[in-house]
Amino acid sequence: MADFDAIIGQEQLKERMKATAESGQCSHAYLLVGERRSGRTMLAKAFAKAILCEGEGRKPCNCCLSCLQVEEGSHPDLVYVTHEKPNSIGVDDIRQGVNEDIILKPYRGTKKVYIVEEAEKMTAQAQNALLKTMEEPPSYAVILLIATTADAMLQTILSRSVLLPIHPVPDEIIRRYLMTEKHIPDYRADVICAFARGNVGRAIDIISGESFEQNKTEAVAILKSLSDADYGKIYQDSVKLGKVIKEKKENNEENRSYLSDLLDFFLVWFRDALVYKSTGRSEGLIFREEIQYIKKVSGDISYEGFEDIFRAIEKAKKMIRSNVNIETVSDLLLMSFKDCRKER
Ligand SMILES: [Zn+2]
Repeated sequence: MADFDAIIGQEQLKERMKATAESGQCSHAYLLVGERRSGRTMLAKAFAKAILCEGEGRKPCNCCLSCLQVEEGSHPDLVYVTHEKPNSIGVDDIRQGVNEDIILKPYRGTKKVYIVEEAEKMTAQAQNALLKTMEEPPSYAVILLIATTADAMLQTILSRSVLLPIHPVPDEIIRRYLMTEKHIPDYRADVICAFARGNVGRAIDIISGESFEQNKTEAVAILKSLSDADYGKIYQDSVKLGKVIKEKKENNEENRSYLSDLLDFFLVWFRDALVYKSTGRSEGLIFREEIQYIKKVSGDISYEGFEDIFRAIEKAKKMIRSNVNIETVSDLLLMSFKDCRKER
């Protein structure tokens, strides 16, 4: 059910949304910024439900007709803006989904809510079309934009939206949730938290999917071969990695998410090595079963080298998000691993 209580973490954001809905003093546009699987869609839906709720007191009440209609997807004043092309929201989508509809008064209550998911996919023309509505919105209109990043939004849209950032959920909260609600043992909850990095949806994906263990094995194989490799071999690996990824999944989107998963393993692997380098202890390491490799990597790479690696991985993740060719990403990444070792 779309209720604030069903969302793990995000306490401040939830309180802010509740208070806004209960006061009845909504802004006309909100920009909810958070990663995929971070609970952003659920938060937007709970917020919309609270705004539209006709009950008294705490909102959403989950009892009134409005709340029930939001839950079953039949509320006449809650509009999910859809788009025809999977990778872009065009000007016609916004015209039909928002601009032409928003002039019609609400059927039931005093508000009408529009949810635009993946708002970063709006073209500049689409954003400009939306801006026209945002400049002079009807008094009842509330537009909830959901985006992975605010970077792709026009400044004029940003200046007219209230920013609602979704922050990573602390490991301790995810860990407690995994142990009490999902009955995961503590040692495994630690590993899952390390990879979920504050994203509850990702933690749930990890425990419910098979790909996590498989991807982990593949990532470790690549990392082990890197730790043994000479520079020529690293180059071959980079070519191989790009090729493997391409052959592995026909679908480009899946390729990206696969490479992104590998990068998460890389990040934790090097973080383990850095922890080992500075403490000389293997307790608490996520990859402690690979301690002989972790030791070797920690000796091979300088502190500056580690910084370079973390920067390179973050950069690669950014490139994946901005649709840079996957082979280019894996080439640049592995070459930067090579460079950091050369600088020693
Ligand atoms: Zn209600």
